[in-house]
Amino acid sequence: MSKFADLGLKEPINKALVDLGYETPTVIQEKAIPQILSSNEDLKAFAQTGTGKTAAFSLPIVELADDQDNNTQAIILSPTRELAVQIGKNIEDFSKYLPKLKVVTVYGGANIEQQIRQLKKGAQIVVGTPGRTVDLIRRRALKLGNVKWLVLDEADEMLNMGFKEELDKVLEATPETKQTLLFSATFPREVEAIAKNYMHNPVEVTSGQKNQGSDNVTHQYYLVNEKTRYPALKRVADINPNIYAIVFCRTRRETQEIADKLIQDGYNADSLHGDLSQAQRDSVMEKFRKKNIQMLVATDVAARGLDVDNLTHVINHKLPDQIENYNHRSGRTGRAGNKGISVALVNRKERNKLNPIERILKKKFIETTIPTGKEICEKQLFHLIDKVEKSEVNTSEIDSFLPNIYDRLKDFSREELIQKFVSLEFNSFLSYYENAPDLNKMSSDRDRDRGDRRNRNGRMSSEDMTRFFINLGRKDRLNPAKLMGLINEQGINSNVEIGAIDILDTFSFFEIDKNFESQTLDAFSDNSPEFNGRRVNIEITKTERKGGGRRRGGKRRNEDNDNKPSRGFGRTRNSGKKPYPKKDNNGNNGNKNRNSRRSRRR
Ligand code: AMP
Repeated sequence: MSKFADLGLKEPINKALVDLGYETPTVIQEKAIPQILSSNEDLKAFAQTGTGKTAAFSLPIVELADDQDNNTQAIILSPTRELAVQIGKNIEDFSKYLPKLKVVTVYGGANIEQQIRQLKKGAQIVVGTPGRTVDLIRRRALKLGNVKWLVLDEADEMLNMGFKEELDKVLEATPETKQTLLFSATFPREVEAIAKNYMHNPVEVTSGQKNQGSDNVTHQYYLVNEKTRYPALKRVADINPNIYAIVFCRTRRETQEIADKLIQDGYNADSLHGDLSQAQRDSVMEKFRKKNIQMLVATDVAARGLDVDNLTHVINHKLPDQIENYNHRSGRTGRAGNKGISVALVNRKERNKLNPIERILKKKFIETTIPTGKEICEKQLFHLIDKVEKSEVNTSEIDSFLPNIYDRLKDFSREELIQKFVSLEFNSFLSYYENAPDLNKMSSDRDRDRGDRRNRNGRMSSEDMTRFFINLGRKDRLNPAKLMGLINEQGINSNVEIGAIDILDTFSFFEIDKNFESQTLDAFSDNSPEFNGRRVNIEITKTERKGGGRRRGGKRRNEDNDNKPSRGFGRTRNSGKKPYPKKDNNGNNGNKNRNSRRSRRR
């Protein structure tokens, strides 16, 4: 394995790398850096996040850029603001001993005038998100006529996020003679099309096998159903007392709901999604980086720019719609030589989605049983003993109290004292899990799965559907077929089941499989569709299905939203512990008011 010094980078860069603690190039750096330094051929690099790809494309640019020329020579496109900022910062670090080399980072959601002023001062390297970059090109604030290098970082993600048009525009604004460097973790058709249309016989380099996940990641799946998905998530956390994880959700709503529940249940958790302001997102990310948050519940997009190397777990609360995204998610763990675990919580139907993912990863998912209460208690107990063993005693601080304390406890034997201390810390966990059900058994209860939720007419029962109000009716010339068309147009999911439809004069109702409740709300609010000139609004309703449907509550009953026991044995904010309720003689649990608690949210 070579050293950075062997790659032929100039002294000021090598010095900066020493400051950063970079000694040995990663695989992708070893392959890409000499290639870019020695040739102006286009380059197609297969690289996951966490493989060191930023330095792989940035270092040769920093090396070769002419710092006497103030024109923009390199444009680097990245999918998110966070990632762009991180790349810009890395380049500043790499070029800290090259004071004439300037980098400017441009992204949406920030003052454009200020970015224009920065660009006017001259920057050899510009890092940008696609939308803002195009905006600045249009305003003639960003001139790419002298560009020698165009980098498309996380090209697959940029296309996933719908930036195809922007990429085309930037590519068109750059000269034919430039060198294009395309970095992507996956190469679906759309990325290959970019490579084919805009690159000339690119050289390929890879940091592993194409599209394959990191070797350091173990993939596990837990079989759940909609009733056990959240309790299973909590048990994954409880069996891993030092968990440091991103919990991926598919929609903002789901993200917020899960984060709210975890916070309410006493976990060190928070949410990261597009509904938060940039300041809120920055603050959450900062807390997560500092490990003040152990579980960050996030959407794919929001988590893209997050640069954390030592995650123990990535948890797929729901699998992503596009299987390539699984690879992106799981690549957040097992970075920088660490081991990591990627967990998928899947129901029977979703389990089929694991096969194509396994083919991409060239690895099998390990079916893992949801830990029992007893297993969790055992794990937590030994974690506690471990902590006791390792804790440092600062006698000078407690010296003055000790004689009194020794005196008070003098009548207890050593064994009694150990029992008392352990019980003091541990009783809450024990009592919480004392009557905990076996979630594996509950998850395999077929009646709970989507495929088995239909009545004899093949229709899903109203209990499994969410009923929506829609502000359109006969007067808008709405009929069931048009309503179904309207719902399908929102791209909720190809598998979504539409149930009963009631068309009334000025408004209507329809039912959707409740697993898609939040996606339906999100899709309608994101798309703001119109129908015959009217803006469409939908809301979840509590009205009954025609023909004696059951009365439906707004919020689904959740079997396991009791507070969990206090994390870290009494060190958390949530001291209100509620055990799993004891079963009565009929097998019913005694706690009738388990769902009355409302989420609290800032
Ligand atoms: P990236 O894939 O570019 O996001 O890099 C992942 C992490 O690895 C970042 O925290 C980098 O600072 C770090 N890193 C990249 N290359 C090296 C290297 N050669 N030696 C040590 N750390 C590195």
